[in-house]
Amino acid sequence: MVEVTYHCPYCGAVTGIEREGYLADRCVTKEPLDGWTYADTTDDYEDADGVELICIGDAGDDEGCGRTFYLSFVRYRAGREVDPEVPLEDYEDRPRFDFLS
Ligand SMILES: [Zn+2]
Repeated sequence: MVEVTYHCPYCGAVTGIEREGYLADRCVTKEPLDGWTYADTTDDYEDADGVELICIGDAGDDEGCGRTFYLSFVRYRAGREVDPEVPLEDYEDRPRFDFLS
């Protein structure tokens, strides 16, 4: 097992979890992806689609904000990478434009 750290999308503090050597991380988001199921860090998350992380920060000065964020693994179906049903862009903080047709 190795400890891998992830940056909280809210405050940027790092939170570490134990991972197996092989990593297929897709992204870290504030919201869960559609179609992904998330395990707690206390569960057997290597078999899940992702992990629900709580921003605890590390033991030093880097104190976490306590909010929940989501680490999503890459999923494969029939040998192809599965895309979220909602495009990833929609999860990010960027303006959305609705064009009238
Ligand atoms: Zn945070």
